[in-house]
Amino acid sequence: MKKLLFLILLSSILIGCNNEKKSIDSNSNLKKVNNFAIVIHGGAGTILKKNMTTEKEEAYKLKIEEAIKVGYNILKNGGNSVDAVQKTINVLEDSPLFNAGKGAVFTNAGTNEHDASIMDGKTLNAGASAGTSTVRNPINLARAVMDESPHVMLSGKGAEEFAKEQGLELVDPSYFYTENRFQSLQKIKNNEQASSEINAKNAFYDPNIKDSKFGTVGCVALDKNGNLAAGTSTGGMTNKRWGRIGDSPIIGAGTYANNQTCAVSSTGWGEFFIRAVVAHDISALMEYKRLTLQEAAKEVIQKKLPELGGDGGIIAVDKNGNMVTEFNTAGMYRATMNDKGELYIGIYKED
Ligand code: ASP
Repeated sequence: MKKLLFLILLSSILIGCNNEKKSIDSNSNLKKVNNFAIVIHGGAGTILKKNMTTEKEEAYKLKIEEAIKVGYNILKNGGNSVDAVQKTINVLEDSPLFNAGKGAVFTNAGTNEHDASIMDGKTLNAGASAGTSTVRNPINLARAVMDESPHVMLSGKGAEEFAKEQGLELVDPSYFYTENRFQSLQKIKNNEQASSEINAKNAFYDPNIKDSKFGTVGCVALDKNGNLAAGTSTGGMTNKRWGRIGDSPIIGAGTYANNQTCAVSSTGWGEFFIRAVVAHDISALMEYKRLTLQEAAKEVIQKKLPELGGDGGIIAVDKNGNMVTEFNTAGMYRATMNDKGELYIGIYKED
Protein backbone atom coordinates (compact mmCIF):
# COMPACT_ATOMS: atom_id res chain seq x y z
CA MET A 1 0.00 0.00 0.00
CA LYS A 2 2.80 2.38 1.07
CA LYS A 3 4.64 1.48 -2.10
CA LEU A 4 1.56 2.34 -4.18
CA LEU A 5 1.15 5.72 -2.47
CA PHE A 6 4.82 6.46 -3.04
CA LEU A 7 4.47 5.62 -6.74
CA ILE A 8 1.41 7.84 -7.10
CA LEU A 9 3.28 10.69 -5.39
CA LEU A 10 6.33 10.21 -7.57
CA SER A 11 4.36 10.14 -10.81
CA SER A 12 2.41 13.28 -9.91
CA ILE A 13 5.71 15.09 -9.21
CA LEU A 14 7.05 13.93 -12.57
CA ILE A 15 3.88 15.00 -14.41
CA GLY A 16 4.12 18.37 -12.64
CA CYS A 17 7.71 18.82 -13.82
CA ASN A 18 6.75 17.90 -17.33
CA ASN A 19 3.90 20.41 -17.37
CA GLU A 20 6.22 23.03 -16.07
CA LYS A 21 8.66 22.24 -18.88
CA LYS A 22 5.85 22.47 -21.41
CA SER A 23 4.76 25.85 -20.13
CA ILE A 24 8.37 27.05 -20.25
CA ASP A 25 8.55 25.86 -23.86
CA SER A 26 5.33 27.55 -24.79
CA ASN A 27 6.36 30.69 -22.89
CA SER A 28 9.47 31.04 -25.00
CA ASN A 29 7.11 30.60 -27.91
CA LEU A 30 4.91 33.38 -26.57
CA LYS A 31 7.50 36.10 -26.98
CA LYS A 32 6.73 38.37 -29.89
CA VAL A 33 9.90 38.58 -31.99
CA ASN A 34 8.42 40.56 -34.90
CA ASN A 35 5.32 42.71 -35.10
CA PHE A 36 5.06 41.73 -38.71
CA ALA A 37 7.06 39.43 -40.96
CA ILE A 38 7.08 37.89 -44.42
CA VAL A 39 8.71 34.82 -45.96
CA ILE A 40 8.67 33.65 -49.59
CA HIS A 41 9.88 30.65 -51.58
CA GLY A 42 10.45 30.08 -55.28
CA GLY A 43 10.66 26.30 -55.14
CA ALA A 44 12.97 23.64 -53.71
CA GLY A 45 14.98 20.97 -55.50
CA THR A 46 18.34 20.00 -56.95
CA ILE A 47 19.56 23.57 -57.06
CA LEU A 48 23.35 23.34 -57.17
CA LYS A 49 25.87 26.16 -57.48
CA LYS A 50 27.81 24.23 -60.14
CA ASN A 51 24.74 24.30 -62.41
CA MET A 52 24.11 28.01 -61.94
CA THR A 53 25.57 30.99 -63.76
CA THR A 54 26.22 34.24 -61.93
CA GLU A 55 23.71 36.00 -64.20
CA LYS A 56 20.99 33.45 -63.48
CA GLU A 57 21.62 33.61 -59.75
CA GLU A 58 21.48 37.40 -59.87
CA ALA A 59 18.22 37.33 -61.86
CA TYR A 60 16.59 35.05 -59.27
CA LYS A 61 17.80 37.16 -56.37
CA LEU A 62 16.57 40.39 -57.93
CA LYS A 63 13.10 38.99 -58.61
CA ILE A 64 12.87 37.46 -55.14
CA GLU A 65 13.85 40.79 -53.58
CA GLU A 66 11.34 42.70 -55.72
CA ALA A 67 8.57 40.30 -54.73
CA ILE A 68 9.18 40.20 -50.99
CA LYS A 69 9.44 44.00 -50.82
CA VAL A 70 5.96 44.32 -52.31
CA GLY A 71 4.51 42.29 -49.45
CA TYR A 72 6.78 43.90 -46.88
CA ASN A 73 5.59 47.40 -47.80
CA ILE A 74 1.94 46.35 -47.55
CA LEU A 75 2.59 44.98 -44.05
CA LYS A 76 4.69 47.97 -43.00
CA ASN A 77 1.89 50.34 -44.01
CA GLY A 78 -0.61 48.42 -41.89
CA GLY A 79 -2.08 46.33 -44.71
CA ASN A 80 -3.37 42.83 -44.11
CA SER A 81 -1.47 39.59 -44.52
CA VAL A 82 -3.83 38.14 -47.16
CA ASP A 83 -3.17 41.13 -49.47
CA ALA A 84 0.57 40.93 -48.81
CA VAL A 85 0.65 37.24 -49.72
CA GLN A 86 -1.42 37.68 -52.90
CA LYS A 87 0.47 40.71 -54.23
CA THR A 88 3.86 39.16 -53.50
CA ILE A 89 2.91 35.98 -55.34
CA ASN A 90 1.68 38.05 -58.31
CA VAL A 91 5.23 39.32 -58.89
CA LEU A 92 6.58 35.76 -58.97
CA GLU A 93 3.71 34.55 -61.16
CA ASP A 94 4.49 37.25 -63.73
CA SER A 95 8.14 36.18 -63.98
CA PRO A 96 9.22 33.39 -66.36
CA LEU A 97 11.82 32.30 -63.78
CA PHE A 98 9.40 30.39 -61.57
CA ASN A 99 7.08 27.44 -62.10
CA ALA A 100 3.92 29.48 -61.53
CA GLY A 101 1.85 31.72 -63.79
CA LYS A 102 3.99 32.79 -66.76
CA GLY A 103 6.80 30.26 -66.18
CA ALA A 104 4.62 27.20 -65.52
CA VAL A 105 5.94 23.78 -66.56
CA PHE A 106 4.32 21.75 -69.36
CA THR A 107 1.95 18.82 -69.05
CA ASN A 108 2.36 15.63 -71.07
CA ALA A 109 -0.12 17.08 -73.57
CA GLY A 110 2.04 20.19 -74.06
CA THR A 111 -0.30 22.49 -72.14
CA ASN A 112 0.15 24.46 -68.91
CA GLU A 113 -2.21 23.75 -66.00
CA HIS A 114 -2.06 25.90 -62.91
CA ASP A 115 -2.93 25.18 -59.27
CA ALA A 116 -3.10 27.75 -56.47
CA SER A 117 -4.47 28.29 -52.97
CA ILE A 118 -4.67 30.92 -50.26
CA MET A 119 -5.73 30.82 -46.61
CA ASP A 120 -6.67 33.45 -44.06
CA GLY A 121 -5.48 32.46 -40.58
CA LYS A 122 -7.94 34.76 -38.84
CA THR A 123 -11.15 33.28 -40.24
CA LEU A 124 -9.75 29.91 -41.41
CA ASN A 125 -11.38 30.77 -44.70
CA ALA A 126 -9.61 29.42 -47.77
CA GLY A 127 -9.78 29.39 -51.55
CA ALA A 128 -8.16 27.23 -54.22
CA SER A 129 -8.18 26.59 -57.95
CA ALA A 130 -6.85 23.60 -59.85
CA GLY A 131 -6.07 22.78 -63.47
CA THR A 132 -6.70 26.19 -65.08
CA SER A 133 -5.01 27.19 -68.35
CA THR A 134 -6.17 30.72 -69.10
CA VAL A 135 -6.06 32.62 -65.80
CA ARG A 136 -3.01 34.85 -65.81
CA ASN A 137 -2.62 34.98 -62.01
CA PRO A 138 -4.01 31.82 -60.43
CA ILE A 139 -3.52 33.16 -56.89
CA ASN A 140 -6.05 35.90 -57.72
CA LEU A 141 -8.52 33.18 -58.66
CA ALA A 142 -7.87 31.36 -55.38
CA ARG A 143 -8.48 34.65 -53.55
CA ALA A 144 -11.74 35.22 -55.46
CA VAL A 145 -12.88 31.68 -54.63
CA MET A 146 -12.22 32.44 -50.95
CA ASP A 147 -13.86 35.88 -50.90
CA GLU A 148 -16.59 35.68 -53.53
CA SER A 149 -17.79 32.08 -53.68
CA PRO A 150 -19.41 29.70 -51.21
CA HIS A 151 -16.77 27.09 -52.09
CA VAL A 152 -13.17 26.33 -51.20
CA MET A 153 -11.89 24.75 -54.42
CA LEU A 154 -12.86 25.12 -58.08
CA SER A 155 -11.27 23.27 -60.98
CA GLY A 156 -10.80 23.32 -64.76
CA LYS A 157 -13.38 24.91 -67.04
CA GLY A 158 -15.73 25.81 -64.19
CA ALA A 159 -12.96 27.64 -62.38
CA GLU A 160 -12.18 29.57 -65.58
CA GLU A 161 -15.85 30.51 -66.00
CA PHE A 162 -15.87 31.79 -62.43
CA ALA A 163 -12.66 33.74 -63.09
CA LYS A 164 -14.32 35.39 -66.09
CA GLU A 165 -17.41 36.30 -64.07
CA GLN A 166 -15.15 37.83 -61.45
CA GLY A 167 -13.44 39.97 -64.07
CA LEU A 168 -10.02 38.38 -63.55
CA GLU A 169 -7.48 38.70 -66.33
CA LEU A 170 -7.67 35.81 -68.80
CA VAL A 171 -4.97 35.17 -71.39
CA ASP A 172 -4.51 32.99 -74.42
CA PRO A 173 -2.83 29.73 -73.27
CA SER A 174 0.16 30.60 -75.48
CA TYR A 175 1.02 33.34 -72.94
CA PHE A 176 2.45 30.56 -70.74
CA TYR A 177 4.88 29.25 -73.37
CA THR A 178 8.52 29.47 -72.31
CA GLU A 179 11.22 27.77 -74.35
CA ASN A 180 13.22 26.23 -71.50
CA ARG A 181 10.13 24.69 -69.85
CA PHE A 182 9.08 23.29 -73.22
CA GLN A 183 12.55 21.80 -73.70
CA SER A 184 12.34 20.17 -70.26
CA LEU A 185 9.20 18.37 -71.39
CA GLN A 186 10.88 17.21 -74.59
CA LYS A 187 13.86 15.87 -72.60
CA ILE A 188 11.61 13.87 -70.28
CA LYS A 189 9.63 12.53 -73.22
CA ASN A 190 12.80 11.48 -75.07
CA ASN A 191 14.08 9.74 -71.94
CA GLU A 192 10.73 8.02 -71.59
CA GLN A 193 10.99 6.66 -75.11
CA ALA A 194 14.58 5.59 -74.61
CA SER A 195 13.94 3.74 -71.40
CA SER A 196 11.37 0.98 -71.40
CA GLU A 197 11.88 0.71 -67.65
CA ILE A 198 10.17 3.99 -66.89
CA ASN A 199 6.56 3.16 -66.28
CA ALA A 200 3.55 5.41 -66.20
CA LYS A 201 3.79 5.72 -62.45
CA ASN A 202 7.08 7.58 -62.33
CA ALA A 203 7.37 8.95 -65.85
CA PHE A 204 6.73 12.51 -64.79
CA TYR A 205 9.48 12.45 -62.23
CA ASP A 206 12.95 12.32 -63.68
CA PRO A 207 15.68 13.31 -61.22
CA ASN A 208 18.15 13.65 -64.09
CA ILE A 209 16.29 16.63 -65.42
CA LYS A 210 17.09 19.46 -63.09
CA ASP A 211 13.89 21.40 -63.49
CA SER A 212 11.48 18.55 -64.16
CA LYS A 213 9.83 19.49 -60.91
CA PHE A 214 9.86 22.28 -58.36
CA GLY A 215 9.89 26.02 -58.88
CA THR A 216 6.53 26.58 -57.26
CA VAL A 217 6.11 29.90 -55.45
CA GLY A 218 4.68 30.64 -52.04
CA CYS A 219 4.38 33.34 -49.43
CA VAL A 220 3.45 33.50 -45.74
CA ALA A 221 2.92 36.66 -43.73
CA LEU A 222 2.07 38.01 -40.29
CA ASP A 223 0.52 41.48 -40.22
CA LYS A 224 0.53 44.16 -37.52
CA ASN A 225 -2.88 42.99 -36.30
CA GLY A 226 -1.55 39.50 -35.60
CA ASN A 227 -3.26 37.93 -38.60
CA LEU A 228 -1.49 35.18 -40.49
CA ALA A 229 -1.96 34.19 -44.15
CA ALA A 230 -0.41 31.71 -46.56
CA GLY A 231 -0.55 31.23 -50.34
CA THR A 232 0.97 28.94 -52.96
CA SER A 233 0.91 28.94 -56.78
CA THR A 234 2.34 26.42 -59.25
CA GLY A 235 2.34 24.86 -62.71
CA GLY A 236 2.78 21.48 -60.99
CA MET A 237 5.22 18.93 -62.34
CA THR A 238 6.57 18.59 -65.89
CA ASN A 239 4.92 15.82 -67.93
CA LYS A 240 1.97 15.51 -65.53
CA ARG A 241 -1.09 13.89 -67.11
CA TRP A 242 -4.61 12.69 -66.49
CA GLY A 243 -5.53 15.99 -64.84
CA ARG A 244 -2.96 15.41 -62.09
CA ILE A 245 -3.29 17.87 -59.21
CA GLY A 246 -0.48 18.35 -56.69
CA ASP A 247 -0.42 19.58 -53.12
CA SER A 248 -0.28 23.31 -53.91
CA PRO A 249 -4.07 23.86 -54.11
CA ILE A 250 -4.80 21.41 -51.28
CA ILE A 251 -5.54 23.22 -48.03
CA GLY A 252 -3.59 21.47 -45.27
CA ALA A 253 -0.99 20.00 -47.65
CA GLY A 254 0.37 22.88 -49.77
CA THR A 255 -1.04 25.79 -47.80
CA TYR A 256 -2.31 26.34 -44.26
CA ALA A 257 -2.77 29.33 -41.95
CA ASN A 258 -4.19 29.57 -38.46
CA ASN A 259 -3.81 32.59 -36.17
CA GLN A 260 -3.44 30.22 -33.19
CA THR A 261 -0.29 28.65 -34.62
CA CYS A 262 1.37 29.50 -37.92
CA ALA A 263 1.13 30.00 -41.69
CA VAL A 264 2.84 27.49 -44.02
CA SER A 265 3.46 27.19 -47.78
CA SER A 266 4.98 24.01 -49.22
CA THR A 267 7.04 23.13 -52.27
CA GLY A 268 8.23 19.73 -53.36
CA TRP A 269 7.03 16.42 -54.69
CA GLY A 270 3.32 17.03 -54.27
CA GLU A 271 2.10 13.47 -53.92
CA PHE A 272 4.11 13.08 -50.70
CA PHE A 273 3.05 16.46 -49.35
CA ILE A 274 -0.58 15.44 -49.80
CA ARG A 275 -0.07 12.09 -48.08
CA ALA A 276 1.82 13.68 -45.18
CA VAL A 277 -0.64 16.63 -44.96
CA VAL A 278 2.51 18.67 -44.44
CA ALA A 279 1.27 22.22 -43.84
CA HIS A 280 -1.44 21.25 -41.38
CA ASP A 281 0.78 18.72 -39.65
CA ILE A 282 3.23 21.48 -38.74
CA SER A 283 0.39 23.56 -37.30
CA ALA A 284 -1.01 20.52 -35.44
CA LEU A 285 2.36 19.71 -33.86
CA MET A 286 2.43 23.26 -32.51
CA GLU A 287 -1.16 23.18 -31.32
CA TYR A 288 -1.32 19.72 -29.77
CA LYS A 289 2.28 18.94 -28.90
CA ARG A 290 3.33 22.48 -28.12
CA LEU A 291 6.40 22.27 -30.36
CA THR A 292 7.95 25.50 -31.54
CA LEU A 293 7.56 26.32 -35.23
CA GLN A 294 11.18 25.38 -35.88
CA GLU A 295 10.80 22.02 -34.08
CA ALA A 296 7.55 21.23 -35.86
CA ALA A 297 8.94 22.11 -39.30
CA LYS A 298 12.06 19.99 -38.67
CA GLU A 299 10.03 17.00 -37.54
CA VAL A 300 7.89 17.03 -40.66
CA ILE A 301 10.45 18.01 -43.33
CA GLN A 302 13.53 16.18 -42.02
CA LYS A 303 11.80 13.11 -40.60
CA LYS A 304 8.21 12.35 -41.55
CA LEU A 305 8.42 13.39 -45.21
CA PRO A 306 11.71 11.62 -46.09
CA GLU A 307 10.50 8.50 -44.29
CA LEU A 308 7.67 8.40 -46.82
CA GLY A 309 10.16 9.02 -49.64
CA GLY A 310 9.25 12.66 -50.32
CA ASP A 311 11.46 15.68 -50.80
CA GLY A 312 10.96 19.42 -50.75
CA GLY A 313 10.55 22.16 -48.20
CA ILE A 314 8.35 24.74 -46.53
CA ILE A 315 8.39 28.34 -45.45
CA ALA A 316 6.48 29.38 -42.35
CA VAL A 317 5.87 32.19 -39.89
CA ASP A 318 4.21 31.85 -36.50
CA LYS A 319 1.91 34.17 -34.60
CA ASN A 320 4.91 35.74 -32.84
CA GLY A 321 6.78 36.51 -36.01
CA ASN A 322 9.27 33.61 -35.86
CA MET A 323 10.25 32.81 -39.46
CA VAL A 324 11.34 29.39 -40.67
CA THR A 325 12.63 28.02 -43.98
CA GLU A 326 13.14 24.23 -43.85
CA PHE A 327 13.97 21.88 -46.74
CA ASN A 328 15.55 18.48 -47.32
CA THR A 329 16.73 19.17 -50.89
CA ALA A 330 20.00 20.69 -52.13
CA GLY A 331 18.43 24.11 -52.31
CA MET A 332 15.33 26.25 -52.03
CA TYR A 333 14.86 29.77 -53.39
CA ARG A 334 13.82 31.66 -50.28
CA ALA A 335 13.76 35.03 -48.56
CA THR A 336 12.65 36.52 -45.26
CA MET A 337 12.04 40.09 -44.08
CA ASN A 338 11.46 41.08 -40.46
CA ASP A 339 9.76 44.15 -39.04
CA LYS A 340 13.08 46.03 -39.05
CA GLY A 341 13.25 45.59 -42.81
CA GLU A 342 16.22 43.18 -42.63
CA LEU A 343 16.29 41.06 -45.77
CA TYR A 344 17.75 37.57 -46.08
CA ILE A 345 17.91 35.75 -49.42
CA GLY A 346 19.07 32.15 -49.78
CA ILE A 347 19.31 29.65 -52.61
CA TYR A 348 21.60 26.79 -51.57
CA LYS A 349 21.64 24.80 -48.34
CA GLU A 350 24.81 26.53 -47.15
CA ASP A 351 23.45 30.09 -47.65
N1 ASP B 1 4.43 20.83 -55.12
C1 ASP B 1 4.25 21.06 -56.53
C2 ASP B 1 3.42 19.95 -57.11
O1 ASP B 1 3.65 18.81 -56.76
C3 ASP B 1 5.53 21.17 -57.26
C4 ASP B 1 6.56 22.07 -56.66
O2 ASP B 1 6.49 22.44 -55.49
O3 ASP B 1 7.45 22.47 -57.38
O4 ASP B 1 2.61 20.22 -57.94
